Amino acid sequence: MQIAFIGLGNMGGPMAHNLLKAGQKVYGFDLSPHALEQFSQAGGIICDSPQAAARQADVVVTMLPAAKHVQEVYLGDKGILAVLKQGAHCIDSSTIDPQTIQEIAKVAKSREISVCDAPVSGGTLGAQAGTLTFMVGAEHDVLITVSSVLKHMGSNIVHCGDVGTGQIAKICNNLILGISMAAVAEGMALGAQLGIDPQALAGVINSSTGRCWSSEVYNPWPGICPNAPASRGYRDGFAAQLMLKDLGLAVQAAQQVDQSVVLGEFVRQHYQQLCDEGQGHLDFSNIIQHYLPEPVLA
Ligand code: NAD
Repeated sequence: MQIAFIGLGNMGGPMAHNLLKAGQKVYGFDLSPHALEQFSQAGGIICDSPQAAARQADVVVTMLPAAKHVQEVYLGDKGILAVLKQGAHCIDSSTIDPQTIQEIAKVAKSREISVCDAPVSGGTLGAQAGTLTFMVGAEHDVLITVSSVLKHMGSNIVHCGDVGTGQIAKICNNLILGISMAAVAEGMALGAQLGIDPQALAGVINSSTGRCWSSEVYNPWPGICPNAPASRGYRDGFAAQLMLKDLGLAVQAAQQVDQSVVLGEFVRQHYQQLCDEGQGHLDFSNIIQHYLPEPVLA
């Protein structure tokens, strides 16, 4: 099987590396010379455009920043749909809105090419370890082929339904995550201000009804979870600017179906503020600083 990988950044780079480690032949393209060099060092074959990478591919994986990049790579003047062979399969793992991938899949289908969405959860560590969760939106008949590629990059492949449903799952999960992190930050900060030891408070929350992933595994107060970004200066985690992007997608999606996402929009504004203050590169749990008179650091 010949695989093309387009978008070799923080996530795509290690994902492509895992395909190479599994013995696959991978043709890659990225706009960044540094990303291409790392890909080449791992054994990948560098191409000078998305079309050059995709021309002979049986499967194409794209891992790009946002919808406009995905649109350009698939449908732009030099887009890959124009050169892919009939019967080829494309997997977009970027986090984007469901409509964009559905539109691309429609155009592709008219050319007998399949396109599915498979956004991920697990972050850069999961990408490196090959333990990502893929939320796949795909027709049943392409699932076997798609899964045979995704299994080298992830440990959990969830079929969510037709094209676009992977993005719906991703957006809804991250809507909940963004809100739950803000809720834990608010509770932890309030407790500390009122005079309880944060360790004692976290212990109570994590054996009570406030318990959630944000309190137990990824607590925003420094030192509660030794492996969480809060315990290393909020570095090397899931950047606040990516959470802001995902909450924006959720709010935009909600508007399309006239659903109110009051908490989501409120929390989105908090993350926007964090990014405006120049902290968008730090982990999203750093939102706890908004509730504190003085910064707390590990
Ligand atoms: P990144 O910015 O590190 O990588 C994106 C890569 O795409 C860059 O190397 C860039 O040069 C390349 N690129 C942009 N336009 C291109 C084009 N036209 N042709 C070829 N290459 C192009 O971003 P990332 O952290 O790898 O994230 C990629 C996607 O994964 C995003 O949609 C993000 O929301 C999602 N995601 C990221 C994480 C995370 O923890 N970083 C977790 C889950 C999902």
